[in-house]
Amino acid sequence: MTSTPQPDLSIIIPVYNEQDVLPLLFTRLYPVLDGLGRSYEVVLVDDGSHDRSPGLLRKQYHERPEVTRVVLLRANAGQHAALTAGFEYSQGRYVITLDADLQNPPEEIPKLLAAVDKGHDYVGSIRNIRHDSRWRHWASRAMNWVREKITSIQMTDQGCMFRAYDRNIIQAILDSRESQTFIPALAYTFAGNPVEVVVEHEERAAGQSKYSLFKLIHLNFDLMTSFSIVPLQIFSLIGMGIAVISFLFVIYLGVRRLMIGPEVEGLFTLFAIAFFLIGILLFGIGMLGEYIGRIYVQVRQRPRFLIGTVLGAGESSQDDNDA
Ligand code: UDP
Ligand code: MG
Repeated sequence: MTSTPQPDLSIIIPVYNEQDVLPLLFTRLYPVLDGLGRSYEVVLVDDGSHDRSPGLLRKQYHERPEVTRVVLLRANAGQHAALTAGFEYSQGRYVITLDADLQNPPEEIPKLLAAVDKGHDYVGSIRNIRHDSRWRHWASRAMNWVREKITSIQMTDQGCMFRAYDRNIIQAILDSRESQTFIPALAYTFAGNPVEVVVEHEERAAGQSKYSLFKLIHLNFDLMTSFSIVPLQIFSLIGMGIAVISFLFVIYLGVRRLMIGPEVEGLFTLFAIAFFLIGILLFGIGMLGEYIGRIYVQVRQRPRFLIGTVLGAGESSQDDNDA
């Protein structure tokens, strides 16, 4: 396949310190794409790796220059920002995103394509049997549940990045210019005819997960606070409830004082109640902080990622900064 001005398909892969898995990825990915009988391009985005990944990507570009683009970011911007950078440099009519670590088997790409060919503009995926650590399963399930309750986004398996999008949706994502976002959820809000397919899931072929517990929590905050203000509304309701109960309590104490006299017992009960309320208050301040932090990041309008070098499809090599 040679690349046409607009290839049919763009495959976008974010890469962060994946030197151990990249050779295997390329030997499995390219034969699948060559066998599709469609024009395609592979956009490999290096997300500021410190290992040999950038060199391996350059090497792959020189091996298959006609169908490969390499975008090297200058610093680590995070998986979702790296995907956005890949979107900016992709041209395909359809875009498929997948992870570099072969947890999303490239052999499943035709399944996603079959769904876009049926006219779906968003193809989500459900991991058949998930091969991740037990605590990740549990955490994912909990986050899926919370998202379902507080947003209108319908996704069976939000954590899987192996998805296909129509170009219109990719354009809408690029136009929305959100500084911190969760790509599959944002894409879903633009979808007119979404569908989900079941795909296989494998263990990471080599290397380690790039998500620490802290990064995962942060990512899930992105998902909650970018797509819903229900947490704030629930908090106002709790606040209102507590105000009403406290008011009744004060009236009760007042009446009791007039009829029975001042009370001295129950001091620790009062402490317990006060600490409970302080806990709720701190939680609320933290949650408000999450939203304010998002506003703060958004109004600064700093670039979401910095492009270092771009190799491929016409531009031999380019150095610039992009927002
Ligand atoms: N990744 C990235 N930037 C980051 C973290 C991860 O580009 O800051 C890439 C990583 O190289 C991989 C994909 O995102 O291709 C998913 O990461 P990982 O497999 O570590 O996540 P997990 O499967 O554990 O959720
Ligand atoms: Mg992975």
